Amino acid sequence: MAITLPPLPYDVAALEPHLTKENLELHYGKHHNAYVVNLNKFIEEGKADGSKSLDEIIQASSAGPVFNNAAQIWNHTFYWSCMKPKGGGEPKGALADAIVRDFGSFAGFKEKFTNASVSQFGSGWGWLVWENGKLAVTSSGNADLPMKHGQVALLTCDVWEHAYYPTYKNLRPKYVEVFLANLVNWDFVTKNLGLAQK
Ligand code: MN
Repeated sequence: MAITLPPLPYDVAALEPHLTKENLELHYGKHHNAYVVNLNKFIEEGKADGSKSLDEIIQASSAGPVFNNAAQIWNHTFYWSCMKPKGGGEPKGALADAIVRDFGSFAGFKEKFTNASVSQFGSGWGWLVWENGKLAVTSSGNADLPMKHGQVALLTCDVWEHAYYPTYKNLRPKYVEVFLANLVNWDFVTKNLGLAQK
């Protein structure tokens, strides 16, 4: 069974001015799509098992082209849902309570998440995860992702250069600041926390 490119949860121009239409056309239409095309090629060639779900393909593969492309499909699909037009601000309810419990304050969380995302050397991802009954901030290189480390992903920020160069050029810290202030879909993160705690 072929893997398909999931639809963007909003229009390519919906995150402007924080991420431009050109930025999303490249990131979603070219980069995310290329990972889907590559994985389907591996399935056709018998290098990946097309009868498995994407999560199963990721869990069954170790470092290499199949893992890289499968994990990048998962990471990008998750990343798009982590944002919404008029997002950002602060979370409420159970997520807000957990953030205060595990990071001291929302400002404490923001500082950790920003540092992890900005200081990830080279290409990768900043993450808020659920691990051993609490929240944690991590980062990963290239295609690596929480499910390979016994963690449940709650929120991610793509810090590959392709994610922000079209809008911010080399200013990764500005992109991460705007991501938190104007783009994060806290409803999606709250839903993920609920599922992780089940
Ligand atoms: Mn990306």
